[in-house]
Amino acid sequence: MNTLHEFDIIEKFFMRPVKNRARFPLSIGDDAALISVPEGYELVTSIDTLVSGTHFPEGSAPYDIGYKSLAVSLSDLAAMGAEPAAVLLALTFPEVDQAWLTEFSAGFFHLAEQYSVELIGGNLTRGSLSVSTVVNGWIPSGKALRRSGAQVGDDIYVTGTLGDAGFALRQLQEKHSVLPPELHERFFRPCPRVQAGLALRGKATAAIDISDGLAADLAKMLVASGVGADLHIERLPLSERLQHQCPHELAILLALTAGEDYELCFTAPAQSRQAIQALLAPLSCGVHRLGVVSAQLGLRVLDSERKLLDLMTLGYQHF
Ligand code: ADP
Ligand code: MG
Repeated sequence: MNTLHEFDIIEKFFMRPVKNRARFPLSIGDDAALISVPEGYELVTSIDTLVSGTHFPEGSAPYDIGYKSLAVSLSDLAAMGAEPAAVLLALTFPEVDQAWLTEFSAGFFHLAEQYSVELIGGNLTRGSLSVSTVVNGWIPSGKALRRSGAQVGDDIYVTGTLGDAGFALRQLQEKHSVLPPELHERFFRPCPRVQAGLALRGKATAAIDISDGLAADLAKMLVASGVGADLHIERLPLSERLQHQCPHELAILLALTAGEDYELCFTAPAQSRQAIQALLAPLSCGVHRLGVVSAQLGLRVLDSERKLLDLMTLGYQHF
């Protein structure tokens, strides 16, 4: 066992000079951090926890765990249209393993630096491995993208492609194999759609990030908005990989119901179609229009002949 004390661990692996002292006058080292919110902005805050064996396989690479723990939190800020600013990290691990901590913090800071997010505090505890992150960001007051704003007649969109993370997890569980690099990335290093969220401020009527699968998360947005929706399965964006390596029915099932993709699903008025394309098509993720919001409650998925598809027959189990 190692003799590093708690604050030595923090200093060695987690303390980085704060760049924006004006916004964060007090950070790691005191009982709490201070955040100075820009005038005319609201503080957007969210917490997520990843538990070993539940949210990532036991024995996952520490770099990936560090990366993903921040990525899933940033995805929540993206879904609000917020600009990320700061993060707090609560880490629970069974023993002090310096090699593990080095890799974990490398993955964490890789993403933190990419999005200019400063680590301003946290906590260390001994126990089974789990990682909680609190992310904070800003948004001009009143501009946050909520789940509750979808209007009848709005178009429904999604960024990126769907089902890849689910396909990766399936491969891991079934074959216990090492994943090809791109598939590994789709599960362990999801790309938070921060740029898309920022671009959608004042354009999208509602937004949510897809952590539990399109059907489940879109349903949450529809319920919050008091509306329903019709989706067209032939419009679901499937990666080349899913189209070629996965039977079509399974690809559709994964795209609709598998979680962990962390794409954004959002709604916007039909007259904004050109604006949405112009804003999001240039981003690396791209955007697809899947269907339309309707007054008839519930989520209906239509096949290419416009017949209602029963998710249960595809093997969907809702729990
Ligand atoms: P307290 O006992 O008052 O909660 P701690 O001794 O746990 O404070 O932490 C000391 C300081 O180190 C605090 O400012 C805390 O925010 C910070 N800190 C603790 N763990 C981490 C971590 N994993 N990453 C970044 N900062 C941390
Ligand atoms: Mg204290």
